[in-house]
Amino acid sequence: MVEPLKTQIKMQNKIPKRGLSLTLILVFLLSGCVNNSSVEKYPFNFSGPTMGTSFSIKASQLPEGVKVYRLEKLINRRLTEINQRMSTYIPDSELSLINNSKSTGSQFISPELFKLISTAQEISVLTGGAYDITVGPLVNLWGFGPDKIQNQVPTDEAIQQALANAGYDKLKLTTRLLTLSKTQSGVYIDLSSLAKGFAVDEVANLLDAQGLTNYMVEIGGELYLKGKNLQGKDWQIAVEKPNMETRELQRILPITDIAMATSGDYRNFFEQDGKYFSHTIDPRTGYPVKHKLASVTVLGDTTMKADAWATALLVLGEEEGYKIAEQQELAVLFIIKTDQGFEERATPLFSELTKVKQ
Ligand code: ADP
Ligand code: MG
Repeated sequence: MVEPLKTQIKMQNKIPKRGLSLTLILVFLLSGCVNNSSVEKYPFNFSGPTMGTSFSIKASQLPEGVKVYRLEKLINRRLTEINQRMSTYIPDSELSLINNSKSTGSQFISPELFKLISTAQEISVLTGGAYDITVGPLVNLWGFGPDKIQNQVPTDEAIQQALANAGYDKLKLTTRLLTLSKTQSGVYIDLSSLAKGFAVDEVANLLDAQGLTNYMVEIGGELYLKGKNLQGKDWQIAVEKPNMETRELQRILPITDIAMATSGDYRNFFEQDGKYFSHTIDPRTGYPVKHKLASVTVLGDTTMKADAWATALLVLGEEEGYKIAEQQELAVLFIIKTDQGFEERATPLFSELTKVKQ
């Protein structure tokens, strides 16, 4: 059985209006391809909204004594806590308070926020700033952030202004004290590219602590898989063809005990004067990325890192991205647009991890 395509939920909030009805129909048809009766038989099958998207959690077995309603409550509580720290959409979240503060002095931050920001900073260094969580003002300017701004191409002047507040070197962390400072008051942090991954890891940790050993946790298309599915096999996860208009399968991956995250330019974008603008911004130029690389799927130990790397590699593009992925020994599948359709390019580790076991 193939798990339902969950990347579909990414577009719920930000779907380009012209494609709405078509996409909903296709989503419906697609879920029809999945064997829903066996989906329902999961003894734990919990889904709902979170982080501007939705989550889905399935467990093939529940240990004795673990009650469904209690587990649901624990998960909801953990997701709420994480949102209250990381969300730029919640005005009094820990991150929003930092973003809104004009202070350039050191501030104590929670270990969780510290973990996300320091992970992001490492990837920024490794990618020469292609990945950068201070991209926030640009994300907002292009209409992909919490500000209620219409999606449209901003003026050059506005882009230059937003760029003046961007740059990962404008954030300073001290590991011993867990403090953060901004070197300019206008610096604004956007953790959207890795917060969902972090939340997946946290829910997985919670399930581990409750003694669950066979489960799938998914938020907005980012996943962690453990043990076996209901049929006692490795999880079968669908990678979508990165088509803007249709929803088709590119590949089914038989994987387990692993995290998976996908970034693409094909769901969250807007169109102006016949041109497409993606929600992934190149912080070095201030413009949305535009190249032949349509999607990047990363496998890894943690969903947080896989999530961040997927965005980072999408910004870098198929050549530079592939080089860094190989250097860093990452497991990555690049799907590249060609005149004929799509072409795949996988790193050696990705091919190794997704080999069908005999
Ligand atoms: P995807 O699954 O397509 O990567 P995510 O929500 O995981 O989508 O990450 C994309 C989000 O990351 C954007 O909506 C934006 O908030 C933020 N972002 C955009 N460009 C960058 C960048 N260059 N570096 C870090 N974060 C970015
Ligand atoms: Mg991401």
